[in-house]
Amino acid sequence: EIGRRLFAGPAEFYWATAKIDGLPPMQDMEIAFAGRSNVGKSSLVNALTGRNTLARTSNTPGRTQQLNFFRIGPEWGQFSLVDMPGYGFAAVGKEKVAAWTRLIQDYLRGRASLARVYVLIDSRHGVKQIDTNVLDGLDRAAVSYQVILTKADALKKSELEARIAAIRQSLLRRPAAFPQVLATSSRSGAGVEEVRAAVVQLMRE
Ligand code: GDP
Repeated sequence: EIGRRLFAGPAEFYWATAKIDGLPPMQDMEIAFAGRSNVGKSSLVNALTGRNTLARTSNTPGRTQQLNFFRIGPEWGQFSLVDMPGYGFAAVGKEKVAAWTRLIQDYLRGRASLARVYVLIDSRHGVKQIDTNVLDGLDRAAVSYQVILTKADALKKSELEARIAAIRQSLLRRPAAFPQVLATSSRSGAGVEEVRAAVVQLMRE
């Protein structure tokens, strides 16, 4: 209930930047969503907010390599949802990858208002090398992060449980990781409320 109210307030896209000197001023608490291209990030953001417009904005060509900021305003205070550009898209050239890496690293290092990064992992594929690189970067930058599995509907219950257990185990060695793994499906709605509850918890800390 409180989770639903969290995302029930007004939500607006207010800032996009591909350059680190173009970030919005640090005001609200920020929570960021990251993941490989096609992981289901737009779908999850839409499921969380109950809106189809937010993440579509991010998928507008030209905005995909940018950090996109949305302001969400529940009645007891607002926060920013930061949609990070998807990584690991094969068709993107080396130069773009380097630019992406620099933007993300600079953002993650200098952002006191960033409360947590949610790293989305496709349930079917598990943690790939490029995800490992991102988790390493978050550990180095000492940015609190948590793993959210997407497309949980695509696995059998036993497969999903094994996936969750293996990832949780690997996260125990990671200094900046919050070891609880959340499993979600934008298709069935499973786990969406748990993500909202996790964000509410963060806002109360
Ligand atoms: P993004 O590139 O990370 O923003 O990913 P999208 O949200 O655009 O989703 C990528 C693809 O995964 C699309 O074909 C979606 O239909 C599919 N997808 C997204 N969420 C789910 C889910 O919960 N279950 C399943 N089975 N497929 C999903």
